[in-house]
Parts: sequence; structure tokens; C-alpha cells
Amino acid sequence: MSKNIKVAVIGGGIAGSSISIYLGKLGLNVTLFEKNESIVSGPPICHLHAGGNLYREISDASCVTLLKESIDLLKMYPNAIDYRPTILAVPLSDSGEPEDIIPRLEILKNEYEKLIEEDSSNQVLCSSKEYYKIYSKEEALQLKNKNIVKHPHTFDEWMIPMAKNTNLEKLKFPLIMVQEYGLNIFRLSASASFMLESCKNAKVLTNTKVLNVLKDKHKDGYLLEYKKDNKVINEHFDYLINSAGFKTGSIDDMLNFKKERLVEFKSAYVTQWEGCKDIWPEVIFFGTRGTPQGMGQFTPYANGHFQIHGMTEDITLFKNGLVKNTSLSAQPKLENKFIQKIDKSWCKSDVELRTKKAIEHIRQYIPTFQNVKVASKPLYGAQQIPGLEASLRTADVSFEEHRYARCEIVKASSVLTMSDLIVKELVSLGFLSKDCINKRDFLYKDKINDEQITKKSIELCKQRNYPNDLAYTNSPINKCNS
Ligand SMILES: Cc1cc2nc3c(=O)[nH]c(=O)nc-3n(C[C@H](O)[C@H](O)[C@H](O)COP(=O)(O)OP(=O)(O)OC[C@H]3O[C@@H](n4cnc5c(N)ncnc54)[C@H](O)[C@@H]3O)c2cc1C
Repeated sequence: MSKNIKVAVIGGGIAGSSISIYLGKLGLNVTLFEKNESIVSGPPICHLHAGGNLYREISDASCVTLLKESIDLLKMYPNAIDYRPTILAVPLSDSGEPEDIIPRLEILKNEYEKLIEEDSSNQVLCSSKEYYKIYSKEEALQLKNKNIVKHPHTFDEWMIPMAKNTNLEKLKFPLIMVQEYGLNIFRLSASASFMLESCKNAKVLTNTKVLNVLKDKHKDGYLLEYKKDNKVINEHFDYLINSAGFKTGSIDDMLNFKKERLVEFKSAYVTQWEGCKDIWPEVIFFGTRGTPQGMGQFTPYANGHFQIHGMTEDITLFKNGLVKNTSLSAQPKLENKFIQKIDKSWCKSDVELRTKKAIEHIRQYIPTFQNVKVASKPLYGAQQIPGLEASLRTADVSFEEHRYARCEIVKASSVLTMSDLIVKELVSLGFLSKDCINKRDFLYKDKINDEQITKKSIELCKQRNYPNDLAYTNSPINKCNS
């Protein structure tokens, strides 16, 4: 039955690519449409968010969901993970206290333990007892005198670069180190590409833009009009999945479907710290979003490359960068200057100005962050947020009655929750058999050679004009433990 069902997926971001892999492997005939040259080329994806500890403002329940979903994502895309921990630091200028974070970390540790008890293959971060570790000022000062370790493994070894380089007098104590890993968009793109290549039922059409969608008058389903190699083609599909990222509303508009949503443009800056050969953990300097002391995120890559987020309006956030849709259109309209950046690129002076501000933002805490240059254009883009709550961090999919799923994730980790719900919907329509529900373990079986992933990721860095060093990650042997 499923062989005759044709599914169209519009948008080859992590949402569209993952659902295409899932449905393709279940035997459905899937076509993935992506207007760009390669898949997973949208806004940045750099943190796995295994516990949501970067967001003090979200509920404990959302953090638990992020932990669970991140474990699933890691199992599907293990080669895309940067296995290095994260340090949570509260600056003296911030009104929060580090102790406020600890009860939530205990909840997460216990939830992680339960997940491992349910299924031992969930133990992908470390042992549950080692989910986090706290450091007093005395302990941090002691580590300041230790030598930096070339290949860090223990909590203490990972902490040394931070203890040596940070102005500890500007921070509240304790510092907290947590098993929050990085996620690498180039390796995610490479992994998803290989998985799709090995999936006979999934056809990937890159450089192909969907121009229009109509309900098919003659047969249940949709008529898609798309442009490939300068040819306009019309084709019927039985089921439509809209995973067009921040353009999801434009597909809704083609079909007159109503839906409220926000779209936000943001960017993170790519720098190179000359002479720095040390392997760093991620460091989060908490702060209130949108104020000059907004959170700083110091994200390490290979060979002295660091990506910086600063949650202030002149670094990561932008004036009028957050927009909502209107009653006339489901598509929120970003100002032209943002669309120009997405569709074309950045002007050099903007890149210089914002990256330098990002460097200064971090230098308030890491004074040795000197001889730092702008390494490339930023990692940037617009992301969709379903509903009207800008702080939402977990979201998946909504459905319209006529064979239509609308994927709107806020974090990459939600793709498997989203995909499971779509599978259930397809079962209820009779397009898949009942035994497809909750049987996604086959997704974790694809083993791709890590060298192949690195090679493809380097090609993607070149194609997208980023330094090759962004293609590398710390391997699982660098996992932090006691
Ligand atoms: C600065 C910044 C930092 C972020 N950091 C993280 C992070 O650390 N971790 C994390 O999990 N998330 C992060 N996010 C969020 C994350 O980028 C998004 O949630 C994620 O990319 C959404 O994936 P998606 O597949 O839904 O959409 P997208 O990645 O936007 O993919 C949609 C795709 O649809 C294609 N498309 C659109 N219209 C058409 C059409 N008509 N025809 C054909 N193709 C079309 C687009 O070209 C695009 O490739 C960050 C976002 C930003 C802006």
C-alpha cells in the first residue's frame, strides 16, 4: 500500500531531511524539495541542548523534554555531535544566583537516570551521576595553576582553560559544568545527506524551489508547481509536509491555512583567536536577553576558532528582528534588510562591526581573548516559532485536515518527536501500517564512517564560505567524566 503513496516534503532543513529519512526508510515514496544547493543549510545549529540549561527562563518540563529529545537526536546523528561539556557562569552583574540552577540540574540528572533504566542505549552523555559538577572559587583557583591538557577527559581537565583565562573576580560561584554538548550543522548536513543517499525511496531535489501548491481538484492530495533546472514542473502528491522553516507561512498562505507564528532573525559570529591551540569547553555567561549584559555564548571549534552569541541588540539580536504574522497572512514579514542578508549575504562593514562587538562582549570575562580576528561571515538566519510566545523552545508539528503536516521546530532536537507524530497521522490515514508506530530504532542503525562525514563537511564549509576548521568536532573519547 505504502509504495503507491507519494509524499512531498517542502524544505530540506533538519526537520524536512529527518522526516524524509524516516518515511523513506518506512517504505513511503518521498520527494524532498530544497531550494538551496545543499540540505541543512538554514539558520545555525550549534548546541544540542541536552537539558536546556542555556535557558533559565523556561520551565523544568521543557528542560526535561529537551534532554529526552536531544538523546534521541544524538542517537540518530552521532557523528554531528561535538563531545565537549558546557560551563555555566553567572556574572556578578547578573541578578540571578548559580544556586538557583542546581535544583533543575538535579531533576535532569534523575530524569536521565530514569531514561537509562528504561533503555540502556540512552546512556549517550556520560553516567547519570556525572551529568553535572559544581566548582567553588577555591577549586577554580587551584585549577588556575595547573597545566592545560592537550586532550581533556576529566571535568577538571576541561575546566583548566576557563580557570586560567577568565577573570574569576567578575563571576559568582559556584561555576557549573554540565554535559551539554555541541551540535555541528555541517556534520548534520553531511550525515543527513548520506542517510538520504542510502534510502532508495527518498528522492532529494536540491536547487529546486516550490513555487505554488494547490489542492488537487481531481484526486485527494496536492498539485505542486516547482522549478528545477529552469523548467517549471507540476506534480501530484498524496500527502504534503511543510517544513519550509521561516517560510512555512508562505506555503500556508498558498492553501489559505491560518496559523499564528513568530519569525526571528539572529546571528552568531565566527572568530579566530590567533595562537590558541587549547581545547575549550563551551562557556555560557548568563545575562538578561535584550539588555547590554545579555547572555554571552562562547562556542569552541577547532584550531582557535570560536563562535560567539551575545544576546544584545547590537550582536545576536536585531532591532525589529522579531516579527509576527497578521490576520491577512500566515507569513510574518521580515524587513528587507534581513531578507537581503538571507538571500544574498552580509556587507563586510556590518560583519566587522558586529563581530568586533561580539569579541568585546566575551573579553569582559576572558581578558586574554586578544589577537582575535573576524574569521568569516557570521552563521545566521531566521527561525520560526509557532504561536506568539518568543521564549518557546520545544515545538513539533501541527496538522490540517486535508493530508497536510506543518513542521515548526524551534530546536533541532525536536525532529524525532515531530516525526513520530507524523508517522501516527499517516497510520491513521491508512498510508502506513500500525506496526510503524514507536518503531524508530532502525534510524539509529545507520553507521556512517566518520572520515567520510569530515570530508563532506569540509566540502560544505567551502561551498558555504566558512573556514574548514568548522567541520571538526571532539570525538566521543573526549567525553567528560570524573
Ligand atoms: C542564530 C541562531 C542560532 C541557533 N542555534 C541553535 C542551536 O544551537 N541549536 C538548535 O537546535 N537550534 C538552533 N537554532 C534554531 C535552528 O536553526 C532552527 O530551529 C532549525 O534550523 C529549524 O530547522 P527547519 O528544518 O525547521 O528549518 P530550516 O533549517 O530553516 O529549513 C527550511 C528549509 O526550507 C527551504 N525552503 C523554504 N521555502 C522553500 C520552497 N518554497 N521550496 C524549496 N525549499 C524551500 C529553505 O531553503 C530551508 O533550507 C538557531 C537559530 C538561529 C537563528
